Amino acid sequence: MSILKVNGARLWSRLMAMAQIGATARGGCNRQALTDADREGRELFAQWAKGAGCTVRVDAVGNLFARRPGRSGALPVVMTGSHLDTQPTGGKFDGVYGVLAGLEVVESLNDHAIGTAHPIEIGVWCNEEGCRFPAAMMGSAVWSGRLPLEAALALTDREGRSVRAELERQGVDPTSPMVREPVKAALELHIEQGPVLEQQAKSIGIVTGVQHMSRHEALILGQEAHAGPTPMDMRRDPVRLLADVLPALYAAAARRGTQARLTIGIIETSPGSPNTVPGRLRFTVDVRHPDLGLYRALRAEIHDIVEAALKRHALEGEIRCVWEAPGVVFDAAVVEAVRHAAAALHFDAVEIVSGAGHDSCNLAAVVPTGMIFVPCAGGLSHNEAESATPSELEAGANVLLNALLALAADNRGERP
Ligand SMILES: [Zn+2]
Repeated sequence: MSILKVNGARLWSRLMAMAQIGATARGGCNRQALTDADREGRELFAQWAKGAGCTVRVDAVGNLFARRPGRSGALPVVMTGSHLDTQPTGGKFDGVYGVLAGLEVVESLNDHAIGTAHPIEIGVWCNEEGCRFPAAMMGSAVWSGRLPLEAALALTDREGRSVRAELERQGVDPTSPMVREPVKAALELHIEQGPVLEQQAKSIGIVTGVQHMSRHEALILGQEAHAGPTPMDMRRDPVRLLADVLPALYAAAARRGTQARLTIGIIETSPGSPNTVPGRLRFTVDVRHPDLGLYRALRAEIHDIVEAALKRHALEGEIRCVWEAPGVVFDAAVVEAVRHAAAALHFDAVEIVSGAGHDSCNLAAVVPTGMIFVPCAGGLSHNEAESATPSELEAGANVLLNALLALAADNRGERP
């Protein structure tokens, strides 16, 4: 039996049609959540989905669901999808690809008159980007019960307009019931947004999880002094501590292998005068690792390094963790469905851990979840120049199609 394939040209033409809504002068998209452009994009998708025989509904927080019925109304849905909103200077593929590839799966099943035991549902999660309303992955967070609906509705943009008011303006009823129907499995297809697949010349990333991450802030107190008269050995200079700590931090990360990530994003001295020894230093450390043991060891060592340096330099100060997001391990059966589909299609695939957060992180808290990545040019995303080729995008959609077919077949081993 020959393996089922999507229509790559139709997928590409829809990606290009969607990209015209909110198109920017430099080839990107600006469809921030719950703007008129976002509404227009969602309406276009809903129109396509209805044309493909799907039923479409919207929940209280603006998540849009398009469902292709299964043979049994009693079986839980198999979900796919992603988001249609973009950054203000976003690209044409981040999120949009996962939604339109889900639709392409439905169209391809229709083309070949193939039914599935379980319904297939495409979710369009509201406000994934979190740039206009400050809660990334908002819609999926409410759906999964990680964010109260009221908290999401109360969020406001810079002009003071609330999610609630903007939903109402778009004809969404925020008092409608927030139901999470039973889901057998969820699978999101996304561009990688990093350079690993391209660098390794792989066409498919089998995403096994999302790495552990946290942010730390160090505050070191010294003593302000004149840069001229004060001898070096009589200063309490917090930057001396920094000079000591930085190589130790990078070395600690290096000891945890190539998957460790350590970023010193902010270094700030006060009062910030060229001829005053700073009285105060603040710096941040963002640390990430896919392996829980190595992540915890690195996180602890960062604190140890700073605390030991404080003692050595006889300075007052502290380092504390200000934000932490636990890593996600995706469901073994969903990951296996992706692995199997990629192998059946003879794609060069590699297992990969996501460096960024996705709606799937929220879904994974409540339903068996997985993700598929495809390469994007230079690993560039959240950028108008974000780019992927039609054949790379077609390859990912073919993996999605075959993985969803396997997941949507019933448990008795019925052929899709
Ligand atoms: Zn995205």
